[in-house]
Amino acid sequence: MSGEKSAAIIGAGIGGIVTAIYLAKNGFKVDIYEKNSIPGGRCSNLIHEGHRFDLGATMLMMPGIYKKVFSSLGIPLFENNDIKPLEDLYRIYFDNNEIITFSTDENKMKTEHEKTEPGSFDSAKKYVSDGYEIFKTGINDLLDRNFYNLFQFINFRNIGLLIKLKTYISNYRYVKKFFRHPHLRMAYTFQNIYVGQSPFNSPALFSMVPAAELTEGSFFPIGGMFSIVEKLLAEAISSGVVFHYNMPVSRISVKGKKAERIILENGTEIKADIFVANADLPYVYRKLLPDKWRSARIERMKYSCSAICYHWGLDKVYPQLAHHNVFLSDKFREGLDRIFKDKSVSDNPSFYVHAPVRTDPSAAPDNHDTISVTVGAGNIDKKKNQDWDGLKNKTRAAVIKRLKQSGLEDIEDHIKFEICHTPESWENACNISRGSVFGSLAHNILQMGYFRPHNNHPYYRNLYFVGGSTHPGNGIPNVLISAKLTAERILNKQTNH
Ligand SMILES: Cc1cc2nc3c(=O)[nH]c(=O)nc-3n(C[C@H](O)[C@H](O)[C@H](O)COP(=O)(O)OP(=O)(O)OC[C@H]3O[C@@H](n4cnc5c(N)ncnc54)[C@H](O)[C@@H]3O)c2cc1C
Repeated sequence: MSGEKSAAIIGAGIGGIVTAIYLAKNGFKVDIYEKNSIPGGRCSNLIHEGHRFDLGATMLMMPGIYKKVFSSLGIPLFENNDIKPLEDLYRIYFDNNEIITFSTDENKMKTEHEKTEPGSFDSAKKYVSDGYEIFKTGINDLLDRNFYNLFQFINFRNIGLLIKLKTYISNYRYVKKFFRHPHLRMAYTFQNIYVGQSPFNSPALFSMVPAAELTEGSFFPIGGMFSIVEKLLAEAISSGVVFHYNMPVSRISVKGKKAERIILENGTEIKADIFVANADLPYVYRKLLPDKWRSARIERMKYSCSAICYHWGLDKVYPQLAHHNVFLSDKFREGLDRIFKDKSVSDNPSFYVHAPVRTDPSAAPDNHDTISVTVGAGNIDKKKNQDWDGLKNKTRAAVIKRLKQSGLEDIEDHIKFEICHTPESWENACNISRGSVFGSLAHNILQMGYFRPHNNHPYYRNLYFVGGSTHPGNGIPNVLISAKLTAERILNKQTNH
């Protein structure tokens, strides 16, 4: 097409692919350059000896946001019955062997709450309905909009909004107003880890996460979370997007106020009218762009935590486990301090176990099991003496000990193979700064909204960003919104010129 604009996108994560579809559908010629041999980034998978592991994301939550973005792209999502609603969202295990199941079934929730703290079910209903209001307001007024100037963000209306969004109180202090029992306080705040934060240091805005899960439900796509990437990929290809795998970008060359070309590691130079970086934003400033002073400012910002992930192929199925399992240690606060203050891992870690075969038997060979364990860990900090191999082994032993205590006595004998990701391997796999896989930039209120690095470079005006490290933040629902907002900004600029 003559006069067709061209876009070169760095990275085929969810953010890169969704932006590509929006642009291709609006007349752009789009090429994506991805360093890895497969798309998906932190939502990719790995298949080994018939076991399929979701490497990052495992929960499809906030389905309303998926529906909104997918339908705006004309992609059917929930219509084919291949995305299953989970009645039980997760099973939460405590050190005294008490188990609380979070469910979309009200009666079950009532029993689970009342056995722990009489009267707590009514408090839970209030917590969830208030949190869901925060979620709706947060999405409409803070997360799902581009801020074009500081005044749009800081004005009298929005100061009221920040109060309404409970940004003045920590999530853990807030939950104490609802529940006396420490297990319920932990059960309603551990979700902060989804965005790489401690509930002791992040705003009660994040009470919206369990509230959204309990109100809208949690889903699992048959085929794993990567099947979401596959749906996007099919649409991108049919819209004309061209994917180039094993093509790491090593530099963005600039001239005046414009990005001019990207230079691939193999030396090839690619020119385009606009560039979109889906790769981690601090990494792009530090490694791909020339002006180091801008990057130094971003280096001084706060970063989210990292994770150690163990993927196990087992030759036995453990019915004790649900699809999603959360093991919370009584040393909850101490564990979070080890992650966020010491940049290490707790000796008695809380952790999450994904066991997808319960919903999707195709994740493992018959009578075998596919299990992934995720343990929160400090991000990479050169000032600390971090021995990731040592921590990996020590943490594995602590996880196995805790699983044995819950009745999986012989689990160690049934692990056929293990694949492990540490903060260092996360950093290498996707170029995530400091291995801070849940961000990478943290989500404190001074790094959100207008204060988060923008999706358009402040100087090189044809360079855009998309993904978890720009506005609005991490997690697939946010990344979908990010792609929509970045595409909107690009397209608005085209129509206004
Ligand atoms: C352990 C874990 C569990 C999670 N669980 C959930 C969950 O249950 N639900 C949920 O919604 N979210 C979850 N998330 C978050 C979710 O996975 C991410 O928010 C999302 O996948 C990020 O997408 P993205 O497009 O921003 O970035 P990425 O997926 O990181 O994509 C960026 C892409 O850029 C590529 N790239 C980087 N540098 C270059 C370069 N120089 N040249 C070319 N390509 C490059 C990378 O290889 C990558 O493919 C989880 C994340 C992790 C790590």
